[in-house]
Formats: sequence, C-alpha cells, structure tokens
Amino acid sequence: MTLSVLDLFSIGLGPSSSHTVGPMRAARLFARGLADSGRLGEVVRVKAVLFGSLGATGEGHGSDDAVILGLAGLDPETVGADEAPRVVAEAAESGRLRLDGTHAVTFSPEDVVLNGWESLPGHPNGMRLTAYSSEAAAEAAGTGADVDPEEAGVVMSQEYYSVGGGFVVTAEDFSNPADAEPEVPEPYPFASGAELLQRCRESGLSVAGVMHANELTRHSAEEIRTALLDVWAVMRECVENGCSRTEEVLPGVLLAKRRAPGLRRRLREQQAKGDTLDTLWAMEWVNLFALAVNEENASGGRVVTAPTNGAAGIIPAVLHYFDMFRECDDDRVEEFLLTAGAIGTLFKRNASISGAEVGCQGEVGSACSMAAGALCAVLGGAPEQVENAAEIGLEHNLGLTCDPIAGLVQIPCIERNAIASVKAINAARLSLAGDGTHRVSLDEAITTMRDTGRDMMSKYKETSRGGLAVNVAVNLPEC
Ligand code: SF4
Repeated sequence: MTLSVLDLFSIGLGPSSSHTVGPMRAARLFARGLADSGRLGEVVRVKAVLFGSLGATGEGHGSDDAVILGLAGLDPETVGADEAPRVVAEAAESGRLRLDGTHAVTFSPEDVVLNGWESLPGHPNGMRLTAYSSEAAAEAAGTGADVDPEEAGVVMSQEYYSVGGGFVVTAEDFSNPADAEPEVPEPYPFASGAELLQRCRESGLSVAGVMHANELTRHSAEEIRTALLDVWAVMRECVENGCSRTEEVLPGVLLAKRRAPGLRRRLREQQAKGDTLDTLWAMEWVNLFALAVNEENASGGRVVTAPTNGAAGIIPAVLHYFDMFRECDDDRVEEFLLTAGAIGTLFKRNASISGAEVGCQGEVGSACSMAAGALCAVLGGAPEQVENAAEIGLEHNLGLTCDPIAGLVQIPCIERNAIASVKAINAARLSLAGDGTHRVSLDEAITTMRDTGRDMMSKYKETSRGGLAVNVAVNLPEC
C-alpha cells in the first residue's frame, strides 16, 4: 500500500473526518456507483444504516447529514459550509433527494438510521447503503423483515468502512487490502520508521526529500508544491475564520464558548502595548491557533484533515508557530508538510489514525507526532532527530482515550489540540537537544499504540459511552 501526502492532508468540512467526511464520501461513491451502473433511474428510495461508533456518535458528529450530502453528490472538498445545511433542510422539508445531484427519489430523515448497538465485522465505523426500486421494498426493509434481495427490489447494496482521516473502503476492499490500491513503484519505499531512516542514509536525502521523491511517482513537482501550499492556505484561512467568528457559543447541547476570538483580541491588545515579555508568549499564540481551527471544525467549518478532523488543529498550530516566530517561506512549508506526511503514513500503515479503532492516541497522538517531527525538520534536525521528535510526540499520548461529551467534537477535543500542539513543540526541542540516539524507536511506540488500542474497551473508542462522556453532566434540551 502506498500513501500520498495529499491523501493525508485533504480538505473537508467538520466536525469529524471519520464520522462526517468518510460517510459523505461513502454515500457519494454509492450514488456515483448507481449512476455508473446505469441503474440510477430505477431507484425510488435509498436507506442507510450507520453501525458501531458511527451510529453511537453519529448525531453529534453530523454523520446522518453527511450521508444525505454524499447521496446528493456533494464532495466534502468543495461543498460550501453554508450550502451543506441548506441541502439537508431542503431534502427534509420537500421529502425529495436528488441522488448524485440528478435523479430525485423519495426521502425521509428516517431513511438514515443510527444503529450504535451493532457493528459490522470489519471495523467500528461501518455503514450499509441500499437502493430500492419500489417503495414497498424500502418499507419492508425498514421493518427488518428477512427478504430476498432480488424479490425485495434491491437495485444495489454496499457496505463501507470509514477507517479514519476521511479514508473510505468497501467491505470487499477492506477484506483484500492488497487489491484496494494498486502499488505505485517508488524510488525509496518505506514501511517503518527504521526503513525511512535507512532510505535517508542511503540517499543522503532528508525525510521530506524521501517523501518528495516518492510523491514524484504520482504528481509533478509543481503539482505537489501547489497542492501543499493550498493546504497551508486553507489552514491559515481556517485560523482566521476561527478568530473572526461573532457567535459566542458552538453548535450543540454543550453550549461551549468559542475562545479563539477573545484570545486573539487579548493577544493583539497586549502586542499593541508591547506587553510581550511573558516567557510563554509564544505558547499563548500556539493555543490560539489550535483553538481557532478546532472551533471551526466543531461548527462544521472548512478544515484540513491533518490527519483527522478531531486532531486538525495541531499541525496548523505548530506550522503557524514556526511561521510567526521563525523564518518561514514556501520551501519550509513544503518541507514541514512532507515530513509530517511521511510520519503520518507510518501510523496509517502500521496502526491507525481512527479514534473509533484505537482511541484518541490515534488522532491527537498521531498529529502530535507528525507535527513534532515536522517542526524538528524545519528547525534543522537530522532524520534521526526527526524520528526521535516524532517518537516523543507519540509516546506521551499513548493510552489516550476518545470520550467526546454528547458525541460532539468539542470537549475534550478542542482543548486537547492546544495541549498537544505545545507538546509537539516541546518534543521537537527535546529531540534537537540530543543527537538523535534514543531508547524507544518510533516503530516501537507505534506498535505500542496499536496494541494499546486493541486492548482498550470499546466504550473509550468514540462511542461516548465512557470517560468524560458519562461523568460530565449535560443538560439536554427538553423534548
Ligand atoms: S476525543 Fe480525540 S479521537 Fe475522540 S473525537 Fe475528540 S479528538 Fe477525536
């Protein structure tokens, strides 16, 4: 399996890559598949069932709305933050949904079912989409009656898994991962941190250099640069949006306050007065950058999945820190993102970046590790120091559970990104203070994360059935 840095840094709407972007992509693929098969015109209704973690926290993560948007043919990369709620509201009010943007079918919000108590066999984030050629068949399916698919008027049925970071695979591809993605021959293939370091030593290239050479098998140098600078532009836009909002609270029952706009006002006032001698002045800005991104994510704004939406604030916060307090230019931005991407592929390949699979260590831990290694690189670290920084960034997030209160990607997620951003900067500094030799390798830390995730009870894996999600009182609105 080869992974592009551009797969790891995709652009999409919040609040969740696995629970919003992934289901939207899966539903869009399903609608496209119907169109490509030439059978779209037969469909009168579509039903979707979201299982496991998708079902348990789907409401707070907007997974049900994401399915509707995907069925309507909308792409998470390009759909407008204002367009999304309008399309969902129109479908609910009119009782009609334009499949793949063209073919109108009957629709009711009950056609998207959140079933958090059952899971599909392959992954906690499973979903099944079924298209019917008759209303009677669709109604019969809703009763759970055991029916013959042929006789039941099933035009097409497909199971998908949203495996983290917005990546989606069909159940068939999940069972045969070798068939899911054709191998692209790369000049410096690596499947582990040790192999990555070996490629760096053999070639004399940096971590970013190795990743860039591999990327050239998929894209031209100009395409890579343009795409990565676009990613950086969206990260900056996201911070600016998060700092400029006038709404005081985030959407949802928590009524969580937005902190980024007020924090930026205070920091700017201090700056204007020359009151910047606090030794932790830079840390205040790092906190701000992370809060701004994650508040945008929590309110369904446009973010860069880095490598997930829940952890989308860490890499932008650390890159903003470098941009604000060090010498940054387009070359350094490219080096930063390529280094982070190289580290991210190791998590994706050897463990998981899905909170539903391994807990928050897979989301915030991976992002912290990627940011730490990337910062170390642009600060002049050798590949061994980069690997060391990435390891430190992960090691101190091991065991971190996923327990979002009320299923919303707000508490603990938003603040956790700020804390992990500062941790990433510290990891890079610790590494740069050494010579790259260290006791625990990045590969060992990633294996530990994978094993810890396997042992973690499912109530701590994005189900909102454990941890803060059950110990913090929430005043739910009266029905
Ligand atoms: S707790 Fe961590 S893994 Fe879970 S939703 Fe929040 S950021 Fe994502």
